[in-house]
Amino acid sequence: MDYIVGVDFGGTNLKAGLVNCLTGEVTSIHSIPTFSQDSPDGVMDRMAGLVEEVLSGFEAGRSSIGGIGIGVPGKINMEKGSTEFLPNMPGNWPGVPLASHINHLTGYPVRLLNDVRAITFGEWKFGAGQGADSIACFAIGTGIGGGLVVNNQLVLGVDGSAGELGHITIDFNGPVCGCGNHGCVEAYASGPAITAAGIKAVTQGRTTAIGHLVDYDLNKITPELICQAALGGDQIAQEIYQQAGFYLGIAVANILVSTGPRRIVIGGGVAQAGELLLAPIRETICSRVKMMPVDQVEIMPAKLGTNAGIIGVAVWTRQQLMS
Ligand SMILES: [Zn+2]
Repeated sequence: MDYIVGVDFGGTNLKAGLVNCLTGEVTSIHSIPTFSQDSPDGVMDRMAGLVEEVLSGFEAGRSSIGGIGIGVPGKINMEKGSTEFLPNMPGNWPGVPLASHINHLTGYPVRLLNDVRAITFGEWKFGAGQGADSIACFAIGTGIGGGLVVNNQLVLGVDGSAGELGHITIDFNGPVCGCGNHGCVEAYASGPAITAAGIKAVTQGRTTAIGHLVDYDLNKITPELICQAALGGDQIAQEIYQQAGFYLGIAVANILVSTGPRRIVIGGGVAQAGELLLAPIRETICSRVKMMPVDQVEIMPAKLGTNAGIIGVAVWTRQQLMS
């Protein structure tokens, strides 16, 4: 029971590994393309095959495998073990009984968890959140995902919907977000929002190295490139990260007063910018939050990297199966 196969169900790749849930160690990591344009049945067949690959070299034997946990990129029905809305999967996924289908194909019990809630749980158990009873986790990339652990419990809310931290409103008159709401923090501080700020600075003719770094091919502007310019001393690029960090700080301030976490863990591709992004978050919460001991709150980069979700969903699945 101490070993669980953790599966990361991504839009581009399916990745899985064998997780020792007592240590957080992952071995036998395998990855195959998702071919998300394929039917759900096709994708699930491939997922079951991937699990077989992960288990094929496992010497301790199949009896020590407790089950399979799948981190799903979207909305799920946790009670039914089905997928509801997967924004980056073109196939017809609403109502697909993913858990029972994989159970049928592999013989193991299966549990589903939203992918960023899985990352949150992994970081809390074995990564940057270790030892803190309450944390909030942000995964900042194309969108902003999130998750909360409060008093040593992963917060799930109605149908596992709690923790959508990217959709905290920071300006009720703000731009329309991908979710349909106005002024979500995702519309201000995600990778595309940072890229858009870089493009705007170049097209407005501001004095910045960003344009020069891409030979004025605006399609080549990325958050990494703006980060590179900022680290090279470019003031506009530094301002862009300062601004994104400020917006995130407003969202974090709202979380601090509502759940009182000890640690805020920031992961995802955009978090590679490190202190460029973390310092303005700290400054913002210190200047704005008065109703909780903000000096005791740590803002930290995520630690587990790209395996966080696999580890988190496996440990969570073991906990569910044992309770
Ligand atoms: Zn939104």
